[in-house]
Amino acid sequence: MSPVPGRVPQVLLTERMLGRLATWLRLLGYDTPLIERPPAFPPPGAVLLTRRQRLAGRPGVLLVAHDRLEDQLRQVLQELNLRPDPRLRFSRCLRCNLEVRPLQRQDAAGLVPDYTLATAPAFTRCPGCGQVFWPGSHGARAEERISALLADLPEAASWDSPAT
Ligand SMILES: [Zn+2]
Repeated sequence: MSPVPGRVPQVLLTERMLGRLATWLRLLGYDTPLIERPPAFPPPGAVLLTRRQRLAGRPGVLLVAHDRLEDQLRQVLQELNLRPDPRLRFSRCLRCNLEVRPLQRQDAAGLVPDYTLATAPAFTRCPGCGQVFWPGSHGARAEERISALLADLPEAASWDSPAT
């Protein structure tokens, strides 16, 4: 039985103690606000990710059962039946959770290293903290870890079709 029957969450309210999990959900493109105190009942469209046993079984609450990040991510994706869209990867600021916006190359001048300015195919910028991102700025290892994680999940092959 799914702990959150029938809910297709648009927002993953995540307790601060699960900060690393939240970062990776943001990296996959999910709207993942960190919260200090869990609401008694998550609002419609939201699911609460928590480790508080006492909240288990409430509507819209997913009790994260694992300690390892990879296991946590796998549990969340599977139990919420989420299919990460490759086009949404790196679409959010990992720090602020805001959607990043395209940044013209000339506007990136002075904000990124000269070599990156000359060679990166595209730039985005967080409207909150101003951080500039480009393909590879999260590190090749982030891509590798995501690919390994998704390859591990059932049906991963069909999720990962190139978005061209
Ligand atoms: Zn930001």
